[in-house]
Amino acid sequence: MTHEYFRTYRIANIVDAIMRNPFAYLHHLEGLTVNNGIYEFLPPWQKESALHKFIRFIADEVLMNDTDGPTRVPFGPDYLRPKWILPVDAAMLKYGIINEPLFFIPEEFDRTEAPDGEDEPPHTNDPHHVVNACYNYLLDLRWTQVYEDLMSRITDEVFYVMFLNRRALANLNEFLARYVGEVSRDFFDTDEAPLADLFAVDGELKRVRPPMWARRAVFYRDRGRCTACGADLSGLIDTLSVGNYDHMMPLARGGLNDVTNLQLLCENCNLKKSDRVVAPSNRYRRWY
Ligand SMILES: [Zn+2]
Repeated sequence: MTHEYFRTYRIANIVDAIMRNPFAYLHHLEGLTVNNGIYEFLPPWQKESALHKFIRFIADEVLMNDTDGPTRVPFGPDYLRPKWILPVDAAMLKYGIINEPLFFIPEEFDRTEAPDGEDEPPHTNDPHHVVNACYNYLLDLRWTQVYEDLMSRITDEVFYVMFLNRRALANLNEFLARYVGEVSRDFFDTDEAPLADLFAVDGELKRVRPPMWARRAVFYRDRGRCTACGADLSGLIDTLSVGNYDHMMPLARGGLNDVTNLQLLCENCNLKKSDRVVAPSNRYRRWY
């Protein structure tokens, strides 16, 4: 995968800030959590992880907010009188998803007064016409494949830089666990039986063995070492044994079977932690 780093850190920063204090942003997150939104997170070991879903949701909000104002990016060879486009078009151009802008931000209306005796031009009655045009463009765009492609690219890049941050991942999983913990199997209709079957008891998902791709990702992220005590696990015969993969947010507390909820622990540290919620270590080894 190639990285263009289009607003990657800005979006990562917003995602991190919201994860640190999600309850301050609850009304922004309703789209994720109300109306059974949490059900999307329940199936085990989705490569489109909980963090992917969260990033996608926030990135979409950020791009929608660009229409307020609106946020403008110059486009075209004439730098003295550029045409203006929205950041979403700039992003799709940068990623090579489109070759030409799909939308130009219209000119502000003419604020000069109409000559005596003449009516103002009709559009001057609508001071919001620029914002409205941008907003409507984005509303339509969100149903298109090019937008879907853009969101996938942005999500992949932000995931890449955030996956190292175990504390941020633990915050996300702690937030989601509150919703999982409130799910009763009685909530599901008969056609949702597969979802009900994912639960061991109300509010607790069944343990599902992590697949090799998830174990590899976590093993290499944590560099083959116990994240708590630093013990080198790479020399052990059962390096990739399931026992070393700890759910940071325990299943018994509403934790998910999700790659973002795993960390590497040695057997001793895993036993010590048990089903408690312990903040993951924020100690990392230098690159060199
Ligand atoms: Zn350890």
